[in-house]
Amino acid sequence: MSDTIFGKIARGEIPAKVVYEDDRALAFHDVAPQAPTHILVIPRKPIPKLAEALPDDAALLGHLLWVARQVAKNEALEDYRIVINNGAGAGQTVFHLHIHILAGRPFSWPPG
Ligand code: 5GP
Repeated sequence: MSDTIFGKIARGEIPAKVVYEDDRALAFHDVAPQAPTHILVIPRKPIPKLAEALPDDAALLGHLLWVARQVAKNEALEDYRIVINNGAGAGQTVFHLHIHILAGRPFSWPPG
């Protein structure tokens, strides 16, 4: 199983500004924020990218989105953008599935 920096964060081997955690997921601030608020939600299970999720991961995927919703609520975010980059061509750089929560500035559409 390939390991990533997020696997190390999930196991507590390297520090992160964690804002939420449970037995299946955790959320922490992005080290290079692209907006005033930029938080990542990851599964503890090291799924490399969304496309590699399995049918048995469906409930976990729903849980991650629920965690994102809860984190946004806890952070008192009203408008926010949720992003999943799937694959290098889409901007993914860390191959451990993650949801970006971005807030605190206007976001254009279509995204860059
Ligand atoms: P991706 O480009 O794969 O969708 O997003 C990866 C994100 O992880 C980037 O926004 C990047 O700033 C963030 N990141 C990379 N390494 C670390 C790290 O060691 N700690 C934290 N908190 N975020 C990281």
